[in-house]
Amino acid sequence: MKNNVLKVTFLGTGTSQGIPIIGSDHPVCLSDNPKDKRLRVSALLEWEDYTYVIDCGPDFRQQMLANNVKKIDGIVYTHEHNDHVIGLDDIRPFYFRQGNISIYCHERVLKNLKHRFQYVFETENKYPGAPTLDTHIINDDPFTLGNKKVIPMNVYHPELQVYGFRFGDFAYVTDAKIIPQKELDKLKGVKTLVLNALRKEEHISHLNLEQAIDVVNYLKPEKAYFTHLSHHMGFHDEVEKELPEGIHLAYDNLQIEV
Ligand SMILES: [Zn+2]
Repeated sequence: MKNNVLKVTFLGTGTSQGIPIIGSDHPVCLSDNPKDKRLRVSALLEWEDYTYVIDCGPDFRQQMLANNVKKIDGIVYTHEHNDHVIGLDDIRPFYFRQGNISIYCHERVLKNLKHRFQYVFETENKYPGAPTLDTHIINDDPFTLGNKKVIPMNVYHPELQVYGFRFGDFAYVTDAKIIPQKELDKLKGVKTLVLNALRKEEHISHLNLEQAIDVVNYLKPEKAYFTHLSHHMGFHDEVEKELPEGIHLAYDNLQIEV
């Protein structure tokens, strides 16, 4: 891969239940279009020899297999909701091959992971099949992934703090309902923005389509991709036609180079 090119793969673009929802007769859940099938939200970032994953939800194993991922240099967490963290046990194949796996998260998220995955953090008589992590706490300061500077921003879901991340001209923000002005300022000048947009109707903890478009119109990136989509957003191909120029619905396994 060329230097400085960041390849982003949308591993999952669905909301917490995924699409289709189990047992649902909703037309979007019954759609044959692969773009209407959405695993839980996650993204793969690759540049030079580096590979990082944003979030590690219940579809992590399937996402790694679908994209033939051979190694990961770390997992970066946005927040601790189940659909973003519960796949952690499936990092074992990487751990067995590579050794300790780095994770990057808010201190509060680490506390939550220790509670959910107590056996992973065991220090005495740890089961040898459990993975071991190298933990890196993120605060408001920029941090480094591989050789890239990452600027974290605090968005709110609606009360829970969630990290968005900016890598140069590219930013990834999911599970936002509120983005304070100070944090919006950190996104100014991005050329490619990934942002959550749940559905057309208002929702308590996620930006809806109109609100997400407002954020894009304010920041004016060259391109924006919406993710964390519910089946209530509608059929991919129909919504895509209604969107303003430069704005797209992401779909699973879409790859972009930024
Ligand atoms: Zn969430």
